[in-house]
Amino acid sequence: MPLFPDTALPAAPRRQRRQAPAAASETLKDKALEIHRRLCGVYDCPIPYFHSLDPLSELISSLLSHRTRNAESGRAFKALRTRWPDWAAVEKAGVAEIEETIRGVTWPELKAPRIKAVLSAVRERVGTLSLDFLQAMSVDEARGWLEAIPGIGPKTSAAALSFSTLRMPALPVDSHHHRVAQRTGLIGPKLDVGPSHAVLRAQLPDNWSAQTLYDNHEVLMMHGQRVCFHRSPACGRCVLLDICPTGQARGVTATERP
Ligand code: SF4
Repeated sequence: MPLFPDTALPAAPRRQRRQAPAAASETLKDKALEIHRRLCGVYDCPIPYFHSLDPLSELISSLLSHRTRNAESGRAFKALRTRWPDWAAVEKAGVAEIEETIRGVTWPELKAPRIKAVLSAVRERVGTLSLDFLQAMSVDEARGWLEAIPGIGPKTSAAALSFSTLRMPALPVDSHHHRVAQRTGLIGPKLDVGPSHAVLRAQLPDNWSAQTLYDNHEVLMMHGQRVCFHRSPACGRCVLLDICPTGQARGVTATERP
């Protein structure tokens, strides 16, 4: 049962209005599907979910993870949960205490006040510290609601919906996913991570399940971590070499595959 009936969903502030992305070309849709098919073969879809957190906890975890290694953001999340019994206690804690607890993540001095502010914004808009009501919204509505809170962008909203126990069909895009998408020509070289969310989602079938969209994010992310490295991509062992303009331009010959 959703926490709120449909008629009582906490309304998103008016300024938040999500724009529909331009329609993707059939060529790019075909390419996105082919990339998904090949990478799923390499990384063995379906990919197991790595979290089973409630959506508010996943939101905080995602805020901590920005530009931070998974091990460090995981440690900081665990430290918050160990030091305080619930998110209400974190909301009441001092910024300096939170900052000290999450040290090790990138920019703890910015993330500590942001976590407090996001928790307060949720309480103010919902009346309690829970985001379970998002389950009753469409993905677009739920993302719009979350992104109306200052400090929450497309990656964080998509992560809260996809990775949490909500298991909603949203597509997060991290820096690895974004790099592979750019190099393979799914998106242009100047499109930032934020706006790339809508463009990359529009290239994939509307009716894809939460698991399949999660797989798409995970396989592109893993490919960026394990093959399409930031500094020196291993194009010679990449299953996308024949359809990747970056790999082709480098004049690389296919060698052993992963
Ligand atoms: S061919 Fe090279 S640049 Fe293209 S996706 Fe593969 S590793 Fe990345």
